[in-house]
Amino acid sequence: MANFETPELQETVEIPALKQDVMSHSRPFVAKEQFQAPLGFPGELADDWKDVAITKLGELLKTNRALQVFMDSCVKCGACTDKCHYFLGTSDPRNMPVARQDLLRNVYRRYYTLPGKYFPKLVGATDLTEEVLDQWYSYFHQCSECRRCSVYCPYGIDTAEITMATRDIMNAVGKGQKYSNEIIGKVFKIGNNLGLPQPALEDTLLGLEEDVKDDTGIDVRFPLDEKGAEVLVVTPSADFFAEPHIDGLIGYAKVFHAAGISWTLSSHASEAANFGLFIGSNENMKKIAMRIREAALDLGVKRIIFGECGHAWRVAYSYLNTLAGPFDFLDPRYPVPQHICEFTHDLIQRRVITLDKSRNDHRRVTFHDSCNVARASRMGDMPGGQFVIPREVIKAACNHFYDMAPETIGEATFCCGGGGGLLTDDLLELRVKGALPRMSALKQVVEEHEVTHMAAICAICKSQFSKVLPYYGFQMDQIISVHQLVSDAIVLDGQQ
Ligand code: SF4
Ligand code: SF4
Repeated sequence: MANFETPELQETVEIPALKQDVMSHSRPFVAKEQFQAPLGFPGELADDWKDVAITKLGELLKTNRALQVFMDSCVKCGACTDKCHYFLGTSDPRNMPVARQDLLRNVYRRYYTLPGKYFPKLVGATDLTEEVLDQWYSYFHQCSECRRCSVYCPYGIDTAEITMATRDIMNAVGKGQKYSNEIIGKVFKIGNNLGLPQPALEDTLLGLEEDVKDDTGIDVRFPLDEKGAEVLVVTPSADFFAEPHIDGLIGYAKVFHAAGISWTLSSHASEAANFGLFIGSNENMKKIAMRIREAALDLGVKRIIFGECGHAWRVAYSYLNTLAGPFDFLDPRYPVPQHICEFTHDLIQRRVITLDKSRNDHRRVTFHDSCNVARASRMGDMPGGQFVIPREVIKAACNHFYDMAPETIGEATFCCGGGGGLLTDDLLELRVKGALPRMSALKQVVEEHEVTHMAAICAICKSQFSKVLPYYGFQMDQIISVHQLVSDAIVLDGQQ
């Protein structure tokens, strides 16, 4: 256990007494040159870094009109101040969304507004200095880009966009984050965040075939690089690696088997995650997304389905066509892309697959809405489908489902505390403290409904909860994949 105090669980969301700068020490490891270079970023601060940063900010203001609007439109109404899980968990006022935004806004005012140029003190404009850059590095890595604050802002100011822009500027001057940039480099070199090469993937998938055969007596296939399959499944590499993710992958395979639809994974596009989003780099996001297009063309598939991964679904749903389209070579009868929950939900509705809910009677389940699915995408063809469809899949797979408090789910969901490129042990204190609102909401349903498990559809959420649940007195295996519930409930022909 690291050296900090875990906050006490609360009955309701409580606004903490302010503790100025209490998290100013929190910052992730800085990327060295070896992790910066593959992404096209300098390895360290050059003498002219300030000019480069100010020029980059100017470019972003021109190319991202929303950023310009966000810089100019805050009226300091305060509606966002108590909406961030990192503020609620740490008490540091710089983790209030508006204060975080102001770290960039004050520099913007200094260099890109007339009052800021001539009367900086009057309008709170600040020079860009190394001290300011350090503050940026610390506090823009205390934002998981979850967008909860923007839901409550009367002007719709999106702090996540401001965080992404600032990280983009920091990368441009050679102050990137090791965790995210090293991972992106691995995707470029090997194909996935975990750096699993093709033989390791093949070995893992063969092992899973054997495990499922032992459990069920059925030959359920986990195909890799299979040309001519109907569906390409792009899933987070965590699904190949460890629990609870891998149990979700087993669930997908059983669904395809039961539905009789051919599918394949790809070693070239063996990663759904796209950390280019987290660092605000369109170029890197595009490079990662192109691997999916290349794999789909190479394998000759007709459909693309994404596995359980929150921000990957945001990139897929909102940007895939722009980044790597057009996908006019796929079957036009299906959406591009489709979410695995949408796919399974449709099969359940049409009674193509059968689930026996009683097989999950030992579980009492709640559901954590992942930020990037809840607030930055949709699922299916109905408004709010991203909230309805995963819950309907869960309810079809188990008898005991209980939602957490309404102000903590759906569009108002609290981040797990590890999203946005913060799922690294050098930020463990932040991750544990930022999980407070979600852990408090979980405690409530545990007490009221004897909930035993929290299901999720995001690899980052699942990894984060596995780590932080024990800090709050829960068990790490209380977090499960939605498709693990499906996997345990699905009725396969000939099953022993
Ligand atoms: S986007 Fe999320 S993490 Fe970032 S400031 Fe807003 S609420 Fe906090
Ligand atoms: S809610 Fe919006 S306008 Fe109000 S202080 Fe926050 S960012 Fe500014």
